[in-house]
Amino acid sequence: MCIFCKIINKEIPSYCIYEDDLVMAFLDISQVTKGHTLVIPKKHYKNFLECDNETLSHLMNIAQSLANMLTEKLHAKGMNILTNVNEVAGQTVDHFHVHLIPRYNKEDACIIQFNESEKQDFDDLTRLLKVEKKIN
Ligand code: AMP
Ligand code: ZN
Repeated sequence: MCIFCKIINKEIPSYCIYEDDLVMAFLDISQVTKGHTLVIPKKHYKNFLECDNETLSHLMNIAQSLANMLTEKLHAKGMNILTNVNEVAGQTVDHFHVHLIPRYNKEDACIIQFNESEKQDFDDLTRLLKVEKKIN
């Protein structure tokens, strides 16, 4: 059983701040910033891509409410909300989780950098990626 499933089953302790039938939120053990929180589904899904629709939309609603609550109670000035998919993207625990990382200043320990890499052909890419049908 994965470490987050063990947290859900209360086999290992956590600093839980919210729980309902579908999701749980607890403090990340490595507090990148004060109040760094993880929101997870109770059912085991490997990552964002594999999570079912109903759970995902509920989880994102709860993540938004908690992000607002953290902002208010901790007087954060901003928030990074992110999820890593697979090892290449930095996922270390293979149970879907959304990070809520309150931000207080640009020089804190949360460093997310978007560097430009090689130039892309935007026309080619758009042709390849354009979705013609409406996604429900
Ligand atoms: P990721 O790199 O996106 O997979 O993030 C996994 C996160 O889980 C890391 O930020 C860890 O600090 C956190 N983590 C791992 N074990 C625990 C635990 N037992 N309780 C709380 N957070 C944990
Ligand atoms: Zn799990």
